[in-house]
Amino acid sequence: MNSSELHLINARLPLLDENGLYELKASDGSWTSIALQQQGTIPCADPFLPMDEWFSKPFNAGSDCALDLQGRVLIPGMVDAHMHLDKAYSLAKVGNRSGTLHEAITNYRAAVQSFTKEELKNRIRKAALRALSFGTTALRSHLDFPVKAGRETAFRAVHAALEVKEELQGVLQMQFFPMCPYDKLTKEEMEMIEEALKLGMDGVGGAPHLSMTPEEDMDLIFALAAKYGKPIDLHADESDDPTIQTIAYIAEKTIEYGYQGRVTVGHLCSLSAIDQARAGQLIERMADARLGAVTLPAVNLYLQGRGDQGLIRRGTTRVKELLNAGIALAAASDNIQDPFHPFGKGDLLQIALITGYAAHLGSPADQLALLRMVTETPASILGLGAYGIFAGASADFVVLDARSAHELLTEQPSGRAVYRGGRWVYASAQTETWGSNVLDRLASLIQG
Ligand SMILES: [Zn+2]
Repeated sequence: MNSSELHLINARLPLLDENGLYELKASDGSWTSIALQQQGTIPCADPFLPMDEWFSKPFNAGSDCALDLQGRVLIPGMVDAHMHLDKAYSLAKVGNRSGTLHEAITNYRAAVQSFTKEELKNRIRKAALRALSFGTTALRSHLDFPVKAGRETAFRAVHAALEVKEELQGVLQMQFFPMCPYDKLTKEEMEMIEEALKLGMDGVGGAPHLSMTPEEDMDLIFALAAKYGKPIDLHADESDDPTIQTIAYIAEKTIEYGYQGRVTVGHLCSLSAIDQARAGQLIERMADARLGAVTLPAVNLYLQGRGDQGLIRRGTTRVKELLNAGIALAAASDNIQDPFHPFGKGDLLQIALITGYAAHLGSPADQLALLRMVTETPASILGLGAYGIFAGASADFVVLDARSAHELLTEQPSGRAVYRGGRWVYASAQTETWGSNVLDRLASLIQG
């Protein structure tokens, strides 16, 4: 069998069917056939190599195209809809003694001029490859774009991101959205944002609720995004304060520009603090504007509710109500080991589990919903075509050491094998310590 051909048996596909075992074939990176095995398990015989054995062999990207998954779960490559790769692993350098969002923003802003392009590239690469090793095959990262710190500093992260994106394009699909500073944007600053779009940024980001002039700034940003036909992805209302409701204006502008389905909003913390009736109205407007939404429970649990004593608010948005309203709601990583969040590692199964706790999602149907929030829904938010497990779709997927959606969440299996672009790109039966050897191994695969 040619190395771009793949033949798998005894796979479980929980997003499709929770009970059956499947035989799958792929060729040149696309699925060609997905078939339910009529007689249950096909006994492993030549030439199928049992996955237990495959995991115990040294990893070889090009080999082993006929595998018996022995009942393991296979899901499409996970999609992380909201990360900050350039900030990842900066905690040791930047610090945050109080642990608050305010100190994180202040300290990061003060340190931003000291980051070299190489340092930014190393952080972006490490966080991206680590996410890949957990089974993420596509991601969207916001990118610091501090225009007020000067042109050179602002564009350093843009160039670093574009270089790593190109370097990793064979193994990982990445989108970058610059965090435009919404605060009385000047003509020169708008020109810098425009230049970033021309250089290859995938859309426009930012956090308008932090601005003194959010509506005026959003007018400018929507007009610029529309001029270049780029999507918009905003940090929205990341606050416990119920009076912060920029989401209403975002929905209004989205409809005004005919941008339904092209605007994403992350966080939506204050939506949980707002009274029930008003929250219902806002969710209806979000649905009318077909906004995509992203909940970031790990970081919200850590950063929000800092002013509370006793019963501390969770900060997490109204996950169940958004899902019930039919809003495309993904769950994502946000910050990783930086001044905003000292924990996290870019594993979306960990995020799905935290979402389950934070949003009271635990029934069998809820568990499948959690799995969709880190696969199919973010894929639709990122606009990924041919995503999923069906003939004709891209065969970008991860096999995990679990036999059901429930085991994915409870066991958080470390055994994972990731396939993208017509080859295995990573496989490990156990969690590896992320020293340079793992990075070197992935880097040599990319170059080779
Ligand atoms: Zn964020």
